[in-house]
Formats: sequence, structure tokens, C-alpha cells
Amino acid sequence: MTDAIVAEGLVKRYGDVTALDGVDIRVAEGSVMALLGPNGAGKTTTVRIFTTLLVPDEGRATVAGLNVVEDARVLRSKIGASGQYAAVDEYLTGYENLDMVGRLYHLGAKASRGRARELLEQFDLVEAGDRPVKGYSGGMRRRLDLAGALVARPQVLFLDEPTTGLDPRARLGLWDVIEDLVAQGTTLLLTTQYMEEAERLADQIAVVDRGTVIARGTSDELKARVGGERIELSVQDVGDLDAVSTELSSLAVGEIRIQENIRRITVPVDGGTDALVTALGRLSDRGIAVFDVGLRRPTMDDVFLTLTGHQVELEDGQ
Ligand code: ATP
Repeated sequence: MTDAIVAEGLVKRYGDVTALDGVDIRVAEGSVMALLGPNGAGKTTTVRIFTTLLVPDEGRATVAGLNVVEDARVLRSKIGASGQYAAVDEYLTGYENLDMVGRLYHLGAKASRGRARELLEQFDLVEAGDRPVKGYSGGMRRRLDLAGALVARPQVLFLDEPTTGLDPRARLGLWDVIEDLVAQGTTLLLTTQYMEEAERLADQIAVVDRGTVIARGTSDELKARVGGERIELSVQDVGDLDAVSTELSSLAVGEIRIQENIRRITVPVDGGTDALVTALGRLSDRGIAVFDVGLRRPTMDDVFLTLTGHQVELEDGQ
């Protein structure tokens, strides 16, 4: 299978800040890649290079076989992109926004109008279509923005944090729409800070931290790297956390995590429910009161913590 999106050794600096420090990515045609990482990891910079909005300082990138620098003009007509902040005109209606995009792509008046109506239908915006966008909800704006990226039926699509800021219901709705697109054969690269989003939508995940890809694979492969399941246990009395940690340390196959503020301890284990039964037996023998307990598969948060040795950091150092 050919690769629709390729990056080799991308480096991008903004003055003293090295935003990308040698990014390598390959996305097979018709597949979905998620770039997963916290704020400031370099996700947007990578997407801006692929979509010809930025020129890399080093390295090369191609999309649909076209070089993002040398073939930028031709490439722009072949890709669709939707950014973090919905790029729609507030004062135009949904229909007018889509029609305008069609004209910008030189589809012609008739085809632009037809495509606009078709997309409004596909994105469940028919009723709102003739109202100005300034009255739209966040979810409706995102859907309209995504519709705008699809006007020219691109084979390769870039979505930068498509569901950031949306409520859970709107997020689920957008995931359905994205899955439908992918089922039709579109190659998709999306960026996200949400572990479950990457898991749900992507065939391959690249974990990005401080301008480099620190791990890649399917969500199952990434999870396999951080061990088996987690016992997650809350105690009644915060003073019991250390005793629980001691009692369960022989069951742990990785680092035990203690969160005092929510009286919770997380223990990576092998052996699933057997390990859980053993753990509860030991705590009961010690007379430790357990408030809540569960066994769960590792999340991408766990993956990030294990791979980077630090929790997801916000850019302002929080
Ligand atoms: P976010 O989710 O916040 O967009 P990100 O992973 O997409 O995060 P980038 O926006 O690519 O990260 O930023 C990578 C690094 O480059 C950050 O440290 C950021 O502050 C810096 N950066 C990005 N754009 C510029 C710019 N125009 N000038 C200076 N520094 C920049």
C-alpha cells in the first residue's frame, strides 16, 4: 500500500523555540493516523507544514505524492483541512459559507450551490443552513467547518483537534461523521489531546512530545508496552494509602501511582480478576476499608505517563 502522507526529519524553529525536532510520519492511503500529545507538543505545527501553511526548516514532507513546498499550489487543491478554531464567517449563513468555499475552489456557481446543499444535509445542518452562523452552537460550527473542508472532495484530510471544546454529545456526533468519511476511503491525519478519540478513530497513533514522535503503533500495541490492566482503588481513609501500596506492591508489574487528593491508588497488574481478588483479600485481612474498586485496561494517559515519565504538562508549566 502506498503512503498518502509522509514526513521525514521535519524540523521547525520559531526563534529560540524548536517546535519540531525531527518528526517522521507515514500514513497509508485510506487509513487514519492520530497525532496524540499535549498542548505545545508540535501537533499544529506538523499539520501546518502538511497543509502548506508553513515551510519546514529541515526535512521533507509529501502528501498524495506531492511535495509540500515545491508542489504547494497543486497540493492545496487536493487536500482538505479543518483547524482548531472553526474558520467560518459569522455573518454569512451556513449555506453561504459552503457556497463561498466552493467558489474559492473554482467549482463554478451551480456546482458550488449543489455541493453546499448536499453537505448541509450530510452534516445535519439543513434547518440551520439559512441562518447566520453567529447563532450556531460550538458543535454546529465544528460540523460546518468540517463540511467546508470537504467541499472539493479531498482524498486527504487534516483535522486539527476536531472536537476540542465540544460537549460529550457533540463529540460523539462528530466522531460518527468522521468515521463515515473514513469508510469512504479518505486518508485522515488528525491531532488530538484525547486518548479515547485516538483510540476510537485511528488505525495508528503517533505519540508526540516536545517536537518528536516518542512512540507509535495501534492503540493495542501502545497499551501492550505499558503492561496489563490496572487495579484502581479508592480508600475511605487517606492514611491507608501507604499501607495499600505496601500490601499490593508484590502484585504490581509497573509503577504504582498514588493520588492523595482523591484517595486513589492505581496498580498495574497481570492476571486480571485473579489479581483483583488477591488484592481485595489482602486488604480485607489488614482491615483496610475500600471505598471503590475496579479493574480497567490502560488508558492512553497511562501510556503517556509511562513513555514520558511525566504526566501531560500544560504549556504554562502547570
Ligand atoms: P496546541 O494544541 O496548543 O496547538 P500543539 O501540539 O499543536 O499544541 P504547536 O502549536 O505546534 O503545538 O506548538 C509547538 C511549539 O511551538 C510550542 O512550544 C509553541 O509555543 C511554539 N510555537 C508555535 N507557533 C509559534 C509561533 N508562531 N511563534 C513562536 N512559537 C510558536
